[in-house]
This record gives sequence, C-alpha cells and structure tokens, in this order.
Amino acid sequence: MIVVIRAGATQDKIDEVIEEVRKLGYEPRPIVGELQTVIAAIGDERIHHTLESLRVLPQVESVLRVQKRYKLASRETRFENTVVDVDGVAIGGEEFVLMAGPCSVESEEQLLETARAVKAAGAKILRGGAYKPRTSPYEFQGLGREGLRLLQLAKAETGLKIITEVLSERDVAHVAEVADILQIGARNAQNFRLLVEAARTRKPILLKRGLSERIEEWLLAAEYILAEGNPSVLLCERGIRTFETWTRNTLDLSAVAIAKQESHLPVIVDPSQGCGRADLVRALSKGAVALGADGLLVEVHPLPAEALSDGQQQLDFRGFNTLVADIRPFTAAAGRRSP
Ligand code: PEP
Ligand code: MN
Repeated sequence: MIVVIRAGATQDKIDEVIEEVRKLGYEPRPIVGELQTVIAAIGDERIHHTLESLRVLPQVESVLRVQKRYKLASRETRFENTVVDVDGVAIGGEEFVLMAGPCSVESEEQLLETARAVKAAGAKILRGGAYKPRTSPYEFQGLGREGLRLLQLAKAETGLKIITEVLSERDVAHVAEVADILQIGARNAQNFRLLVEAARTRKPILLKRGLSERIEEWLLAAEYILAEGNPSVLLCERGIRTFETWTRNTLDLSAVAIAKQESHLPVIVDPSQGCGRADLVRALSKGAVALGADGLLVEVHPLPAEALSDGQQQLDFRGFNTLVADIRPFTAAAGRRSP
C-alpha cells in the first residue's frame, strides 16, 4: 500500500507517518518527489493490519492499495520520472545519455583509444565487459580483474563514468570498486540473489531484460533491487528471442514505450545486442529516442572486424559519430538535450 502525504507537510509530520507504518508491521519506504512524497509500505497485507487508519492523520492525503505486483517500480507509487545520479551524470532527466564502448575490454590500447573517441563524440559513460557471459566456454571470457584495472585507467584519463557487467555474486564487491554502474546481463536478468547483492552496493544498476523475459517479469526483477532499498535502477531493453533470424534478437521497442508508461524508472536501449547487426544500430537508435528512451548503450570498437566478441554488431568510431549526428533531430523533437 502507499500512503500519500499532503503537499507542504513538514519532515516531522512525515516521520510520524513513517513510524506509524512501521508500528503497523510494514517496512516504510519514503519516496520523495519534487511535487509529492509518498510512503510505500512493504509487507504482506494478509498478515499485517490495514493502513486505512492512517487516513485520520491530517498530513495524510490518502491511503491507496497498489494494484501492480511491481509496487516500487510502478508509476502508481511514484508519478514523476526517477532521475538516477551516476556520480554527477543524471540519467532520466533532460539530457539524453550516451553510454558507449567495446563489447569486451581487450587491451589498454583498444580501451583507451575507444574511450577517447566516444568521449569526443559526446558519450558520458564508457562501457566495456571485463567478465563476459559467452555462450561457448571456448570463446573469449573477458580479462577479469585486468579488465577492471584498464577501465579504472580509462576513467582516470578521460573522466568518463564506467559501466561494466557483474556476472556473479562472487564478483560484486570488486566490480563495484571500479564501476559507477553495475550491469546485470540478460542471462542473469532473473538471478535474484545476484540482484540483491548488487543492490546492496548502493551503486546504480542497469538491469537488462532477459532473453525471453516478459515485461512484467523484467519490472519484478527491478523490484528486487528497489525493495532492497536501492532506488537507482536503469531498465535496459536489449532485444528478446523470437522466431526471426535476420536479426540476432528482436529489439522490442513496444517494451520501451510500455516501460516508460508503467514505470518511473529511466529506460536505456541497447541497439547493439538488440539486433546484432552494425548496419541497423543507427536506425534502431533513432526509434529508441523517438519512443522516449532516456539513453543508449552502444558497442563501439576501433576495429570491429578484429573484436574478440560481438564484432558483427560493433560500430567503428566513424559509425558512432554518425549515430550521434543522426539522433540529434530526434532528441530535439523529444525535448531532450543531446551531445
Ligand atoms: C553486453 O552488453 O555485451 C552483453 C553481453 O549484453 P547482454 O547481457 O544484453 O547480452
Ligand atoms: Mn556484446
């Protein structure tokens, strides 16, 4: 349930409601918006008392039952868009944010060259996998800790923020030392223990949609992170598995529109995994902007043909510069600032 606080209530009065919610057996989660504060009450309504009695408090505007299973992720609980602060880079606000870099961190030269190029093109966040979830155990698995060291180096030189995947619970602590955003990959999209461990770092988390995950399941996975007390979740649509073979995955742009409608969380689109073809990445990016996405996660490599993973879908530097120019009219039309 959620308890909606009247506009203008003092912090003391809000704290009083929080205490009452706790006394009634629920875990209170205040959600402070610019226009309105609500207290989400987490708990089993079949066991605990109803919160209806709180209506008598003058600072309480209403007490509502949240119908959706994803309560904290739902717009029913928070109407305003969430803006996630990534160490000074705001995602979900006016700026359309570009995250770009290689699929895998391969070498110092490859990473630094790419970091400089994507920064010059306007990216604010550098992507690069140190731990790679590969379909075959015989394919390149990533540089691991050495990859993290190189990401740290690229951050120190360029000032770009870092997003990188955390593949297992065991790696959460040391990945979080370097990453400004923890990426949860499609294959781990419903690895709930991993989601909880990652949430506990309090770092922003980019949650990919699973290979065959329904939108509701995706939002419920986000709910695991939010329910752990970490409000900084970025939803990422990266394509789902369908019968179509012309593309590696089918980028589900309707899921972007639905996620924006159903949830207050920022939505990022990954057109690279989304189609698996470099020649389609620009077109899909324009579509993502037009649908109201808050940013892109794009794979960029100095020499895609020589990449150790996902070469067929990575853009070279020229391709990325063209993408940035291509999306500009669309960001302007969507009322967003772009690089
Ligand atoms: C990636 O971003 O390189 C990646 C492996 O993504 P996904 O989990 O979406 O396949
Ligand atoms: Mn990839």
